[in-house]
Amino acid sequence: MSEVLLEVNHLKKYFPVTQGLFGRTTSQVKAVDDISLTLQPGETFGLVGESGSGKSTVGRTILRLTDKTAGEVKFKGVDLHALSPAELRKLRPQMQLIFQDPYSALNPRIRVGDAIGEALLDHGLATKAEARELVLETLTACGLSAYHIDRFPHEFSGGQRQRIGIARALILNPDLIIADEPVSALDVSIQAQIINLFSKLQHSKGLAYLFISHDLSVVEHLCDRIGVMYLGSMVETASRDELFRHPLHPYTKALLSAVPVPIPKLKRERIVLKGDIPSPTNPPSGCKFHTRCPLAVERCKAEIPLFREAGAGHFVACHLV
Ligand code: SF4
Repeated sequence: MSEVLLEVNHLKKYFPVTQGLFGRTTSQVKAVDDISLTLQPGETFGLVGESGSGKSTVGRTILRLTDKTAGEVKFKGVDLHALSPAELRKLRPQMQLIFQDPYSALNPRIRVGDAIGEALLDHGLATKAEARELVLETLTACGLSAYHIDRFPHEFSGGQRQRIGIARALILNPDLIIADEPVSALDVSIQAQIINLFSKLQHSKGLAYLFISHDLSVVEHLCDRIGVMYLGSMVETASRDELFRHPLHPYTKALLSAVPVPIPKLKRERIVLKGDIPSPTNPPSGCKFHTRCPLAVERCKAEIPLFREAGAGHFVACHLV
């Protein structure tokens, strides 16, 4: 087996914008614009950025739920976008996606036990009796009870539904879980419980996570490494500790300034960014962040900063670093 579980090289995903009767392509939405990352078995990589930064599209394109425009995605050394549909289907159980809103992925008329076990049957991985046993085991592992197996989705709270979402992914015994904003719809106290569950399962099952969130405080306790995305591009990656102690990119600094710290003396000065994230259809020239960057200089408008190593394992795209 390859040492690297997941390898993403220069991934791009553009969506065409069409106009007129014949659907002529007039422009492109550059949702993902040259993203690279790697994930080792058992590791957690946090992908962070505002809404509209393209991070969810990265997750979906990695799993080939949408086709790529360019670049490469290798899972255990296999190029996922080069596989036939049958070959991809065989690999699917090993890579699972958890959504922000698990309720929308659950059929309200299907009992939770059946919803959790259905993928096992679909993939021919268990008989009905074996599936029921595994569902019971997985419910317990996810902090739910055996009697929940015959309940319907509407009988659960938001936190319990997310546990169901995790159980649906976990039952297939995956190596990789891509979790897309899995706690952002939950109350803060429930968020902590679900993050603890992710952490516990990782240790007991050796899972690797690509954890997508708009909130750095959510990924702080779970992730080994963090990548910060802005308008389809990676602007900074580093180990969790390095990123929190020595953020280099002005955008990362602004995101970090909003993260609450437990010791008031260490409180960071809040950096409030001007305006909203620009449209990925027509991104700003040069450094895409220059329209909102408090440190922007003339050069930033014209020249795209290189994504380069500024310290051991610490990469950043900024002319001033
Ligand atoms: Fe700001 Fe310029 Fe650095 Fe971009 S390159 S982050 S605009 S200082």
